Amino acid sequence: MPELPEVETVRRTLSQLIVGKTIRAVKVSLPRIIQRPDDIKRFEMELAGHRIVEIGRRGKFLRIVMDGLVLVSHLRMEGRYGLYAKDEPVEKHTHVIFEFTDGTELRYKDVRQFGTMHLFYPGEEFKEKPLVKLGLEPLDNSFTKEAFRQVMSGRKTKIKPALLNQEYVVGLGNIYVDEALFRAGIHPEYPADKLTDHELDRLHEAIVATLNEAVNAGGSSIKSYVNGQGEMGMFQHSLKIYGRKGEACVVCGHPVEKTVVGGRGTHFCPECQMPYGTSQKNEAHKQSNAKSRSKKNSEVLKG
Ligand SMILES: [Zn+2]
Repeated sequence: MPELPEVETVRRTLSQLIVGKTIRAVKVSLPRIIQRPDDIKRFEMELAGHRIVEIGRRGKFLRIVMDGLVLVSHLRMEGRYGLYAKDEPVEKHTHVIFEFTDGTELRYKDVRQFGTMHLFYPGEEFKEKPLVKLGLEPLDNSFTKEAFRQVMSGRKTKIKPALLNQEYVVGLGNIYVDEALFRAGIHPEYPADKLTDHELDRLHEAIVATLNEAVNAGGSSIKSYVNGQGEMGMFQHSLKIYGRKGEACVVCGHPVEKTVVGGRGTHFCPECQMPYGTSQKNEAHKQSNAKSRSKKNSEVLKG
């Protein structure tokens, strides 16, 4: 499933491809993708004649902003956008076609058919599902350490499911939660309400750094993610913990383990991410890791 970095990559790509274009007509061939309004004919008619002004994002949702309308789109498992010339053959699993006045078409393809689209008048979209209950936006200036501490405080759940909950912080999915927790040295099953302010601050930094790296690299290419121009993401090789079961931890060399947390496959290093109740050992271990790391780094610098 695309997470924040992938959706951000699609957002940037679509910004280059379709901003300024005017919709001539819209054709929906799979009504269930359209969640709002109920009437598909109305959806198609409303959009005709509107110009794309801006492509925004809220969490994992795209906001296609037009003059007088906003289309909120979620790609879910395998939804993809692509820009085509009108005479190019329409591929299988294409469910929505936005025909522009310049002879091009934005086509929405979705093999799994889990994607959704909601149409709103501007501003309305934040007051209703699916955006209304969304939590902190991690790449926004409003995502401060203080705000993160507040939203996590008193959560009686393991930290991984807490980070996956889009009502607390948006945009993180299975891959980047594992990456951020590894970077912060926090075990995925650690009770959220037992994390100290210091640990939450470290996790906050890890979330921002992990997402920024992924966004800069164009999003991960795990599974079938493709950006709006049909280019695969370039970040897959940089994942430090996700999908590396049995491989040596990049920090300490211990084999990476895989378990299930809250029903999700979860990768972690048992040495770098100690379970709750072993924090003293954890701190000692981290310090020795930090020492050996800085030693390594200085050796590299000398070399
Ligand atoms: Zn390790």
